[in-house]
Amino acid sequence: MPHSTPRLVSTRGSSQCEDFTSLKVQGLCPENGGLYVPSHFPHVGLPVLESWRGYSFPVLAQAVLSLYLPETTISTDDLKRLLEKSFSTFEDERVTPIVTIDANFHLLELYRGPTLSFKDIALQFLGNFLEYLVQKQTVDKPVVVLGATSGDTGSAAIAGLEGKTGIKVVILYPEGRVSLVQELQMITGNSANVTCLACPGSFDECQTLVKEAFADKDVQARFQLLGINSINIVRILVQTVYYFYSYLRLAKKIGDSIDYSVPTGNFGDILAGYYAKRMGLPLGQLVIAANCNDILPRFLNTGTYSLNNVVPTISPSMDIQISSNFERYLYELSGRNSEQVATWMHQLNTEGSFSVSSTELAQARRDFSGYVATRDGCLETIAQIARRSEGTMVLDPHSAIGVSAAIQARNHDIPIVSLATAHPAKFPDAVSKALDTVGIKNSPWLSHPSITALVGREKNVGKLSMFTLEALLKYL
Ligand SMILES: *Cc1c(COP(=O)(O)O)cnc(C)c1O
Repeated sequence: MPHSTPRLVSTRGSSQCEDFTSLKVQGLCPENGGLYVPSHFPHVGLPVLESWRGYSFPVLAQAVLSLYLPETTISTDDLKRLLEKSFSTFEDERVTPIVTIDANFHLLELYRGPTLSFKDIALQFLGNFLEYLVQKQTVDKPVVVLGATSGDTGSAAIAGLEGKTGIKVVILYPEGRVSLVQELQMITGNSANVTCLACPGSFDECQTLVKEAFADKDVQARFQLLGINSINIVRILVQTVYYFYSYLRLAKKIGDSIDYSVPTGNFGDILAGYYAKRMGLPLGQLVIAANCNDILPRFLNTGTYSLNNVVPTISPSMDIQISSNFERYLYELSGRNSEQVATWMHQLNTEGSFSVSSTELAQARRDFSGYVATRDGCLETIAQIARRSEGTMVLDPHSAIGVSAAIQARNHDIPIVSLATAHPAKFPDAVSKALDTVGIKNSPWLSHPSITALVGREKNVGKLSMFTLEALLKYL
């Protein structure tokens, strides 16, 4: 096991290694279409974990991230300053508070940031980190963060990047297909460096145009484009921190096993848990919690990863059929065989599915379990938890899928942590429907001051007339 700072390699093979602090790795896709992954996982032994007990969230984040970011490119003091600034915007000083549902069953609240979804944790840091990198490195062209969003990513990215020096932000979203709260969070800001574009089509069309821009030689020559979507590796690393944080708060003895249940869409959040485990954190089961877009649980049942149509649900941030970050896990599963990964991805693109060997499937089942919550199961879970806690604990539909999966998966002798990924006030329709069934009216959880404050604010939104690079270029 090498002890040097990891560098970044591609899941589909490349002789090039990149540094975590290179602006290049912030792009959407490396030339060979793969994703960046750490060249190895730094090892954190039990005595080191023991010494991290009691660390505050920013201090722990520094301990974890400094394993990946060499001091020669970002000094300890600078990293400390960026982390303190990033997490000072959270409404709870613990950053990710833990609440207990019953003995051995805990909820990790990841939604205490500015846009009330777990995406703030990584994106609050990423905004400050990118600003720092852009200031330190001489870039000879305008720096533009370009992204497409189906809702939560866009608002969290804007909250992380608004007002940052030397960075322009352009976010595309499908007009009429994001929730009202999500849209208000994106378009009621007034930062000169942010442009939000309502687009005439679907999220996929927005995403395709963004990918086209990243791949276009002319655009590349004129702009330094940066990506903030969930395949950004820095986001994954920041997300490992709350696994460490919650483990260190909850483990009776360092070395004891703790299970995690994770509401999963693009596989970023749960991949962070897997990475933390590979770094030596003693995690037990990692439960993939899915809504009826169940490609990952089906994969664990059958060994075949096979695309279906996306079905819209009341947990829209998990309505995904291609879990992009799963490729990073496949890379590990194949024994870091980038040719194998490239073959699987090619089959997925051409035939809509691929299968792994029985040995690989057995390994995947040791690494993850998968459970599905239907719409009714999700609403019942919201109702059940609210009733048991007499209305003091209310879940949003995404978090409820995590809790439903945790109830199905849990082994009562081992603590389990279910990740709460959004505040219920972001999804008031579904949540109030569930609360009605147990006679809870006017729950304070159905609103939040940061959302109420958006209503009536001036809207700042552009309209993309059509999905062409020419139309987009006017806004870069
Ligand atoms: C993005 C999101 C998810 C899914 O997370 P992934 O990292 O894409 O698996 C779950 N819940 C909420 C509220 C989200 O915004």
